[in-house]
Amino acid sequence: MNKIYILNINFKYNETDQVIHPVILKDKNYMVLVDCGYPGFLPLIEDAMKLEGLECSQLTHVVITHQDYDHIGSLSDLKQRYPQIKVVSSIQESPYISGDIKSLRLEQAEKMQESLPEDQKSFGEFFCNTLRSVETAKVDITVNDGDQFDWCGGCQILSTPGHTPGHISLYVIEEKALITGDAAALENGTLVIANPQFTLDLECAAKSLEKINNLGAKRYICYHGGVLDRI
Ligand SMILES: [Zn+2]
Repeated sequence: MNKIYILNINFKYNETDQVIHPVILKDKNYMVLVDCGYPGFLPLIEDAMKLEGLECSQLTHVVITHQDYDHIGSLSDLKQRYPQIKVVSSIQESPYISGDIKSLRLEQAEKMQESLPEDQKSFGEFFCNTLRSVETAKVDITVNDGDQFDWCGGCQILSTPGHTPGHISLYVIEEKALITGDAAALENGTLVIANPQFTLDLECAAKSLEKINNLGAKRYICYHGGVLDRI
């Protein structure tokens, strides 16, 4: 049976309670994870999957919506432990995820470091070092806007650039459910641009958010913020 599982990964970041929502798509042939948490999060993902009766050893694919470290952080661990998993990303994001090009977030953080007030410089340096330490992993399958997979009766890749240039979202056609990644976050019942201050192209992100809002999906699953149902 086709099923979408929305994982709740709870953790503390900077002393505050946080939650992220990787997603699992499961049908009789495939099991697909969408995004895989911060560095060191593999045990948290394994535990969250176990609660649903799922095992990482059943995974066939992992889709990475974009290169940020809260989405690819555990990718290298996941691949090493479960080498059968095929990594899927957009063509544009793939060299950053594979580590062939320095991540755009690190470029941005290094640039911001110069203009940070003195009292924030040590956190800025800590953040840069965290990004530098993220382990990368080879992308096996690269995709473009409109590409389709058989998963759960049919899934379509939706190009949703702005947060990063090659950001993708994933539309589960039968369920009319959109897995947004960070093209939309859910805040107070509304889809919004995730972290506008770090968005690499705000104008482009606004267009992607409009595209998402006009898609007519019944369910929006946001990595940051969770589920929005529209009847
Ligand atoms: Zn994120």
